[in-house]
Amino acid sequence: MTLKANASAKQRFTLFQTKPDGYEGYLAVDPLEKLGTKTYTVYPSAWSKEPLATLTLQVVSAYFQQQNLSVPKKQGGLEPEAGEMEAIEAFKNTVSNTRYWDAPPFRLPVSHCMNSPFGVKRFYNGVFSGNYHKGVDQKSPAGTPIKAITGGVVKIARPYQLHGGTVAVDHGQGLGSIYIHMSKILVKPNQVVKTGDTLGLVGSTGFAMGPHLHWGLYVFGIPVNPQVGFVNTTPCG
Ligand SMILES: [Zn+2]
Repeated sequence: MTLKANASAKQRFTLFQTKPDGYEGYLAVDPLEKLGTKTYTVYPSAWSKEPLATLTLQVVSAYFQQQNLSVPKKQGGLEPEAGEMEAIEAFKNTVSNTRYWDAPPFRLPVSHCMNSPFGVKRFYNGVFSGNYHKGVDQKSPAGTPIKAITGGVVKIARPYQLHGGTVAVDHGQGLGSIYIHMSKILVKPNQVVKTGDTLGLVGSTGFAMGPHLHWGLYVFGIPVNPQVGFVNTTPCG
C-alpha cells in the first residue's frame, strides 16, 4: 500500500514492526530546522491514525558549507515544466510499508569522486536564498551507468525541463533516492530494481553546468546527507 502525504503531514514519521515487540525506522532533521527541542510523533504504519509514541529530541548545530553565486538581477534560468515540482514532491512524500532496502552501507550509484557535498547553503548576490544542496554531486563522465544504491520500485523515469533526465526510486519504509541530469533513462515507472541495477546514464540535461551525477536520499521526504551512515564517498582533489 502506498500513501501520499500532504504538505502538512511532512513531519509524519513511521516506524515499522521488525520484531513481535519492536519497531524500527529512520527519523530525519531538515538542515534548515531550528535548533533546540523537537517533538516527533511516530506512527506504527503508513496508514495508522494512532501514534505509536512521542519522542523528544534535541536538534544540535551541524556545519554546512556556503556558496555565493553572483547572478544577474533578472534570472533567465531554466524554469520547471508544469507539474514537475509537484511530481517530485509527491514522490518524496511517498511512504510504502514494504522494505526493499538492505541494511546500509548502500552501494554508490557511480564510483567517481564527490565535487559538491550535501547541505551547501546557496547565497545569491550575498543573500541566503533559502535553498541548499539537497544531494551530492559526483564528478562522473557523460555516459557512465548509474546504479541503484539499494533495492526499490521506480516511481519516476522521465525527462524534466529543470531536473533533466530523472529517475526516482522508492526503497520503501520512508526511504527514497533520486538521480537527475541523466542523458538516457534505462528503467520504467513501477519497475522493481535490485541493488546495482542500471537506472540510466550520466548526462548534463536540465539545469546542469556539465556532465555529473546529482543524486539525493530522502527520509520521509526530508533530504538527508547520504554520507552519514548510508554511503562512503571520496571528495575530489
Ligand atoms: Zn547537485
